[in-house]
Amino acid sequence: MTASSFSVLFLALLSGGLLLRLYLASRQIAHVRRHRGAVPPAFAASIGLEAHQKAADYTVARVQLGMMDLLVSAILLFGLTLGGGLEALYGLASQGFTPGSLGHGLAFMAGVAVLSWVVDLPLGIYRSFGLEARFGFNRLTPGLFVADTIKGILVSAAIGLPLLAAVLWLMDAMGERWWLYVWAFWLAFNLLAMLIYPTFIAPLFNKFQPLPEGELKTRIEGLMARCKFQLAGLFVMDGSRRSAHGNAYFTGFGASRRIVFFDTLIEKLEPIEIEAVLAHELGHYHHRHLWKRLGVIGAGSLALFALLGDVASQPWFFEGLGMQAQGTAPTLVLFALVLPVFTFPLTPFMSHWSRHHEFEADAYAARQAPASALVSALVKLYRDNASTLTPDPLYSSIYDSHPPAAIRIGRLHASKA
Ligand SMILES: [Zn+2]
Repeated sequence: MTASSFSVLFLALLSGGLLLRLYLASRQIAHVRRHRGAVPPAFAASIGLEAHQKAADYTVARVQLGMMDLLVSAILLFGLTLGGGLEALYGLASQGFTPGSLGHGLAFMAGVAVLSWVVDLPLGIYRSFGLEARFGFNRLTPGLFVADTIKGILVSAAIGLPLLAAVLWLMDAMGERWWLYVWAFWLAFNLLAMLIYPTFIAPLFNKFQPLPEGELKTRIEGLMARCKFQLAGLFVMDGSRRSAHGNAYFTGFGASRRIVFFDTLIEKLEPIEIEAVLAHELGHYHHRHLWKRLGVIGAGSLALFALLGDVASQPWFFEGLGMQAQGTAPTLVLFALVLPVFTFPLTPFMSHWSRHHEFEADAYAARQAPASALVSALVKLYRDNASTLTPDPLYSSIYDSHPPAAIRIGRLHASKA
């Protein structure tokens, strides 16, 4: 491969991927708008026309913002690579540090992170205070937004800088097969993060309180006993501080597993509906979806790190992406920046696999709790989160991690018979 042919390949995939995504987004907008006038028959009894139209408008607004985001990201990526941005940042870092030193590598990477953050900031502010606020979902105050941002930067720096320093050191010190060590280290870090996030990081941003005694707790304990599922605790999180969207999730492994409910979810759903939603989550555990995903991510990332190890010694990789400087930090930054351009074709396969897991979890839930309760919970969540009931089939098949509402609920109804 020559530098110029790699440049051409990169530009072709970047612009081709951008055009394809913009096309899919415009299809989604057109499809949702076309079905704005009437609630789909299956939902006519449970969702009013006004809620349906709000969902359509919210979906369109989000996809439009997503298109802006795609454009900004593509321009930033082009500017950083062939536009010479990375080369300039690398030179800037050389003014304070010896080129090639650990400090220089970290300063360079921090510069890239800060620049990307600044570029993303206006759209992020608009997302919360423009779009989400317009549809009544935003609960963030400017003060909380600033506090979150500062905490986020401090946490990222406290975790990210030592992590990157360790990776740069491994790349230098471990000889030919350094990528194998970096991969193992990266995987171990991810598992560790999953362990420490719920107990150490999440409490920096939210308050967690034990779920109070009552019907909901009794129901959940009954469900856990039925499914023979060990749990370390049930918590309620003040999600309402930031957003009106409701959610519930499992965290932790083995004996430290816990369930966290957003307070907004408990307000919206009846105890029996929450029980059904949890039965669905237990279905993911029953089918070991998390471990299957981790297995695929582990194997896939091993292949990617092997590729990283290979391109790190190829001058065409750097020159083809607009960098004269080579070495560990430029390798990592270039690889991380351009990887999504090359892995985009995998998106439909991962989405399809994820939807398959959702169907499996729904089927499990229907065996452990009334399917009708899961259906009514889903309908409420679609309505209250203003999720569209009429996605474009092609858009949905490529991006959606969850099956379209009508298909999902149709299967649940069928499972009752
Ligand atoms: Zn699920």
